[in-house]
Amino acid sequence: MSGLGVSAPRLLLRKLHQVMAGHGDAEQRLNEIVRLIAGNMIAEVCSCYLMRAGEVLELFATEGLKKEAIHKTKLRLGEGLVGDIAAQGRPLNLSDAQSHPQFAYRPETGEEEYHSLLGTPVLRGGRVIGVLVVQNRTQRSYTDEEVEALQTVAMVVAELVSSEQMVAATEFSETGGNATLPHHIDGTVLAEGLASGYAMLHEPRIEVFKTLAEDRSVELARMNAAIDGLQVSVDVLLTATNTLFTDESREIFEAYKMFAHDKGWIKKLLDAVRTGLTAEAAIKRVQDDTRSRMKEVTDPYLRERLSELDDLANRLYLHLDGHREFDRRNLERETVVVARNMGAAELLDYDRRQLKAVILSEGTRSSHVAIVARALGVPVVGQCSGIVDLVEQGDFILVDGEHGQIFLRPGEDVQQAFSGNVKQRAVRQAKYAALRDKPNISKDGIKLSLNMNAGLLIDVDHFHETGADGIGLFRTELQFMVRSQMPKVDEQTALYSKILDNLNGAPVVFRTLDVGGDKALPYMKTKPEENPAMGWRAIRIGLDRPALLRSQLRALVRAAAGRDLSLMFPMIAEVSEFIEAKAILNKEIERAAEKAGGAPRTVKVGTMLEVPSIIWQLEHLLKEVDFVSVGSNDLMQFFFAVDRGNPKINDRYDTLSPSLLKLLRKIVVDCEAAKVPVSVCGDMAGRPLEAMALLGLGYRNFSMSAETLGRVKEMALSVDIEKLQDFVCGFCDSRDHSVREQLRSFAQDHGIVV
Ligand code: PEP
Ligand code: MG
Repeated sequence: MSGLGVSAPRLLLRKLHQVMAGHGDAEQRLNEIVRLIAGNMIAEVCSCYLMRAGEVLELFATEGLKKEAIHKTKLRLGEGLVGDIAAQGRPLNLSDAQSHPQFAYRPETGEEEYHSLLGTPVLRGGRVIGVLVVQNRTQRSYTDEEVEALQTVAMVVAELVSSEQMVAATEFSETGGNATLPHHIDGTVLAEGLASGYAMLHEPRIEVFKTLAEDRSVELARMNAAIDGLQVSVDVLLTATNTLFTDESREIFEAYKMFAHDKGWIKKLLDAVRTGLTAEAAIKRVQDDTRSRMKEVTDPYLRERLSELDDLANRLYLHLDGHREFDRRNLERETVVVARNMGAAELLDYDRRQLKAVILSEGTRSSHVAIVARALGVPVVGQCSGIVDLVEQGDFILVDGEHGQIFLRPGEDVQQAFSGNVKQRAVRQAKYAALRDKPNISKDGIKLSLNMNAGLLIDVDHFHETGADGIGLFRTELQFMVRSQMPKVDEQTALYSKILDNLNGAPVVFRTLDVGGDKALPYMKTKPEENPAMGWRAIRIGLDRPALLRSQLRALVRAAAGRDLSLMFPMIAEVSEFIEAKAILNKEIERAAEKAGGAPRTVKVGTMLEVPSIIWQLEHLLKEVDFVSVGSNDLMQFFFAVDRGNPKINDRYDTLSPSLLKLLRKIVVDCEAAKVPVSVCGDMAGRPLEAMALLGLGYRNFSMSAETLGRVKEMALSVDIEKLQDFVCGFCDSRDHSVREQLRSFAQDHGIVV
């Protein structure tokens, strides 16, 4: 077969254009479309199924199958080949459809005669709204051009279905799965808070609202202008930011430049417009083609290049008139950013005044983007599967970062209920604020230290409002991540001084640079690693590149001249690493003592306990350090060998598991024996039930995000630690998976607010 020579697509599109512009109701036009496709593709059958309420695909039009089956044949999402195409959102090309395990025979259609099948989803705004299928009697496989042609027709069908409302929007329930309707999605709280705003997709998406061109020359001019615009912008980007590039990012942008000028790519785009597509549809068509080639390529280098081409198509789309690239640093209105996942540095790229919340389809609580969001007070709901495909740019969204829910395009009633929640939250916040000046003493009179984690200057500005005793963990890397160049010693000194000034004598523990892993510095060249969390990061970089560590220590020592300095090193796995790092610090202190500014009045040096190996050298370490702080996020990750950023395995092990409690108990016992202060600064410290368990294990010093301080304080004031201690320690030898429920019951029975 194939009647699809070079001029065939153009002919088909012209005819489709006539149908779309013609009269008749939508169903008549859909029938005309399937008839045209069957004729054009020399297929005996062409059918169109549309998605209806309850995720059911209903046969709406057919050429070749029995007409009685129209509106009668229905398949659930995932049922049969049609349901499978809809569920996967991908074309299916089968020479022998009946032998496919998913084949579902429907006698009313008479399709038993047909062997080969090509189907493609009908997509609108990233969602499947139907399926378009052609079938042939013979066992034949359809060519790539035919797959492309059917995809193009599917765009036209999508336009017809939506513009004519062939399936009434009112059919769909709240959870039904249609475009413009309200949606409620359950996710997981990654950062607490309630917020509302307008959706902004972190990665642009090509939306095709009109497939067929009214005037080909107009579309050609639009496409040419967009290509020019893209080429200029890529050239400018490459020269203007020349000095900031690492070799690796330079390579990417060089590749961009090459592709943006690539004659083959440009010709493809212009040819697609010449067949009669709008510029948007042409870009989409070429992008679909790149994507299908990507699936076949196994060579990682080529795949990478193709994915750059894919990204370039997104950029080109933004250069078409009528679209524009959003300026993340200057957002015009309250914004909720929607992404599959995001790095911490990317979050910091957004305009802080207008960034109200983040929704991720992946993400975990201890991922760095969540940590940074908590530092910024930006609520994040993660693990909202499908959100990226459901949301439209500019949709209004309510983000409930208390219960882990989001409401997309909410109705009046939901908005009212939400504003009720906002008021209740304000009441709770007021209650925590009232606790602020109460001393941190447990119900049975034990003194506690409740501190906050920080990393940005804004955290420090808010410090005095939180009622925290001090800053138990200052993640210095955040300051490095928000810059486009490595800050010089003087700049670092000024920054650390400012923090010390603002704190007005309240204690702060600076942690030296913990970069690497998912905390990449845009200007620091590192090779991609297979296992970055266990790779070249934190103190390992500091010791291998002492100049970097030295400059940071110099800045800290200078900033603290005549004052108290507390600092700790991250990711220490062996005592020898601590000793080596401390030697570098000591040199800096000696150096400072000889200079005019002088050395700090006191210096306390500690380490994070994040790598399990160091806990088996604790007796030696404790002789060297002034204090230690448990980084439960990484400790948990390495203890259970569970990637802290992977939602698939995130719930597999509980922080309240007996084995982890036993490890934490050993730490506190050893520290008590050595009379070395110990604190917990990982995420555990900021969760009331976990913090209660830590109190039971013997911990008295916690550092957490400012947002969680009020709740933990409320818990701490209501607890009788004497009673709790034996109960919690008693679980250390349990064989259970978790003791969460037992602890919750204890809290309930003893009036502890968790
Ligand atoms: C930790 O690992 O618990 C910790 C506090 O450090 P970070 O989350 O910055 O890795
Ligand atoms: Mg850590």
